[in-house]
Amino acid sequence: MQAEIITIGDELLIGMTVDTNSAWIGQELTNIGIKVYQITSISDKKDHILKAIDSAINRSDIVLVTGGLGPTSDDITKETLAEYFDSELILDDSVLQYISNLLSERGLELNENNRKQAMVPSSCKVLPNGRGTAPGMLFQKDSKILVSMPGVPYEMKDIMTNQLIPYLNNHFSKGVIIYRLVMVYGTFEAKLAEILEPFEKQLPENITLAYLPTAGIIKLRLTARGSSKSILDKQIEQEIELLQRAIPQFIYAYDGETLEQCVGRLLKERNKTLSIAESCTGGNISHMITGVPGSSAYLIGSIVAYHNDIKISELNVLPDIIDSKGAVSSEVAILMAEGIRKRFSSDFSVATTGIAGPDGGTKDKPVGTVWIAVSSESGSFSLKFNFGGIREHNIRRASLAALNMLRKQIINDLSS
Ligand code: AMP
Ligand code: MG
Repeated sequence: MQAEIITIGDELLIGMTVDTNSAWIGQELTNIGIKVYQITSISDKKDHILKAIDSAINRSDIVLVTGGLGPTSDDITKETLAEYFDSELILDDSVLQYISNLLSERGLELNENNRKQAMVPSSCKVLPNGRGTAPGMLFQKDSKILVSMPGVPYEMKDIMTNQLIPYLNNHFSKGVIIYRLVMVYGTFEAKLAEILEPFEKQLPENITLAYLPTAGIIKLRLTARGSSKSILDKQIEQEIELLQRAIPQFIYAYDGETLEQCVGRLLKERNKTLSIAESCTGGNISHMITGVPGSSAYLIGSIVAYHNDIKISELNVLPDIIDSKGAVSSEVAILMAEGIRKRFSSDFSVATTGIAGPDGGTKDKPVGTVWIAVSSESGSFSLKFNFGGIREHNIRRASLAALNMLRKQIINDLSS
């Protein structure tokens, strides 16, 4: 069983839009055990589309297509598919009704372009789009299927999640597949692979381990295949226990939880609050924390104290300490954390001060040097890091390190 993804749109080829649809669809198909054989991006040209879908459907069992379904004249995927599958375009009443409801909710009237969107090739099964006007369309050719979806990522995701994944699970999945994600922070892929070699060797045949690294975080995905869900659940639980024993210092959560979500959950569970003082991370930690819905329950506030004068006036950092130790120092990081915690009366606080680069490094304090401090009722402590020469990496890595220090401190404070 193999699948292919074709993304259609001139904007993808000239680099104006990054093809995130393929990556997302690839992950989803992998999750339900369907192998992705090829990803192709093509222009909005008829002959190009015809050629690409014809070779894909000859090679693969499932072909998923996104793009070219908009109401404007450059979007020609639907007409081209109608031609390929030898169908006429007919008006679909349920789609027309849906579009007209959607428009009237927004106080708009149905126009000719909208009516055009409710026309579908007669041979397709309509997959309703819960987020927009262009429906998904499923075509069958012998035992194979081709599905066309809009290019707009959230519309495509709606159709995939609510229509297509259940359909594929019913029609194509062999047996039961379950997977768990183990979230890892604080090491790198090569090192992790070395530590986990014995773990991988003892894995039963029907369980596989995949490393999915993203900036600073590694997701370990365990996939189990078999015929009984309850047996697989038990098997995968056992393997997770072994993983937990092998790398307890690196596992911070499960099933896709980010570090900022994890910190938020820990604070919320304990009814504790947080404040943040940021220098070199420039508000990025606060941005990550407030990206989590419900963060107002625990975040009191933040100060981006970039200039030394602000560290002094707003956070009570002593000028003498800045003069004698430098702004990038353990002492200043700790004073910043203590200053913000006192000022905002929060239970926990975190502070960063460092040299993000590319300028400003010295021999003693090269670019990438960052001091991070955490403060709570049980005291304050700081750690020094060096995250290297690239500014955006420094900011991201310093933010993750700060969140991880905070996470550990919240857990420690509770258990002591
Ligand atoms: P379309 O269905 O071709 O009208 O696509 C509508 C919009 O979706 C485009 O303007 C892009 O911004 C976006 N889009 C299209 N294809 C992709 C893709 N493969 N990945 C991410 N965004 C896309
Ligand atoms: Mg387009």
